[in-house]
Amino acid sequence: MTDTIKSLSSLLTEGKTSSVELCQDYLARIERLNPALNAFVTVDAEKTLLDAAAADALRAAGNAGPLTGVPIAHKDIFCAEGWLTTCGSKMLSNFVSPYDAHVIEQFKAAGMPCLGKTNMDEFAMGSSNETSYYGPVRNPWDPSRVPGGSSGGSAAAVAGRLAPAATGTDTGGSIRQPAALTGITGLKPTYGVVSRYGMIAFASSLDQAGPMATTAEDCGLLLNVMAGFDPRDSTSLERGKEDYTRDLNLPLAGLKIGLPREFFGAGLSGDTARAVEEAITQLKKLGAQTVEVGLPNSNLSVAAYYVLAPAEASSNLSRFDGVRYGYRTPEYKDLTEMYEKTRAEGFGSEVKRRIMIGAYVLSHGYYDAYYLQAQKLRRLIAQDFVEAFKQCDVILGPTAPTTAFKLGEKTADPVEMYLSDIYTIAVNLAGLPGMSLPCGFDAQGLPIGLQLIGDYFAEARMLNVAHQYQMASDWHTRAPTL
Ligand code: GLN
Repeated sequence: MTDTIKSLSSLLTEGKTSSVELCQDYLARIERLNPALNAFVTVDAEKTLLDAAAADALRAAGNAGPLTGVPIAHKDIFCAEGWLTTCGSKMLSNFVSPYDAHVIEQFKAAGMPCLGKTNMDEFAMGSSNETSYYGPVRNPWDPSRVPGGSSGGSAAAVAGRLAPAATGTDTGGSIRQPAALTGITGLKPTYGVVSRYGMIAFASSLDQAGPMATTAEDCGLLLNVMAGFDPRDSTSLERGKEDYTRDLNLPLAGLKIGLPREFFGAGLSGDTARAVEEAITQLKKLGAQTVEVGLPNSNLSVAAYYVLAPAEASSNLSRFDGVRYGYRTPEYKDLTEMYEKTRAEGFGSEVKRRIMIGAYVLSHGYYDAYYLQAQKLRRLIAQDFVEAFKQCDVILGPTAPTTAFKLGEKTADPVEMYLSDIYTIAVNLAGLPGMSLPCGFDAQGLPIGLQLIGDYFAEARMLNVAHQYQMASDWHTRAPTL
């Protein structure tokens, strides 16, 4: 199944298939392949087929939207009414959400059945999906390797064609890096474009939801569903509805692509550098010009992020105390011990590491030295992009320094793991939109990701560049044999 949601939508419109048939096909594939991939934490065929039957009824009544009946999988970070919503943690291993996240509401309103909830790093903290309480996800291109993270389940599901599309979230790279490592297309919107209501918080000033699919065109169609003002998220932007697919077919003649010199230095693997160079050549053939730009503070982005993200996480995760919902330790003698044991047993080690770092950098005496300094760096990093976008329309580079690594290869050294996001994190700190799309394979047959970064609200332009590239290449059509 290499179907795009665009083609599935046409099949449904032409009456060549039904949503129930489509969902049955995907559910059968999930049943066959998920035991090995572990891409889904929860599958509930009955629920999915109810959604599908409702979508078919809407179509029969002539009330269908373009994507009505096309199924989608959701990262287990989104609260979905009646679905177990774990966020990859033991802490929420018994949490059935009583309400829908904004994103889930939007997909429901579009009539898109939910295929299940996808595995992820615990509370979205990770770059390999190995911090999940529900076990690691395997990369469909090579099961001994990671799919990236934290949206590793969504990435593996789409890459393995267990779902035509999935939702993800990106705090420091968690949509783009797994998209790169599994050979799919994923987009992180401008901060504030998609509501965070009902999306379990990691680092609220960085978290942003976005689509993961096989093509840029599909990402545009999905973003049309997800985006929009929501008064329940105080950082949701009050902007008019946009059609993110409106510029897909514009020619690239005259496009100025900025190449940050900091993205092409040492640390980038040879195969990735070569594939990115080839993509640049291809884009030049389509009429684009390149200009070298500088992001002089980008080398500080990982350091700034690992102060700011843990600081926000330490505050956000204080709500998991065993009192109102989620896991509670079975035995305790008083309230304090209940808190202590619940949090000691409910959180995994990466989450505890972040809570401790966050509490430390926010504490009296260290706040000025770390947190405030990191906030200043964040401003400088954002300013670099403002300067760069004076010279170009989009910025281009690699998504990740290497292709998919082996399970266990980076778990012993957290800093090594953190460096997987060296090219993606600055985008979150600046609040800019970014995406990853496939641009080739390395010598071992593993996919390589190309990153595009847009100016604020330039999603449509970025999708235009990606779509034109995909019209002229076929990397995005390649799928692993499973
Ligand atoms: N890998 C980064 C981290 O562990 C980013 C994760 C994310 O984007 N959710 O924090």
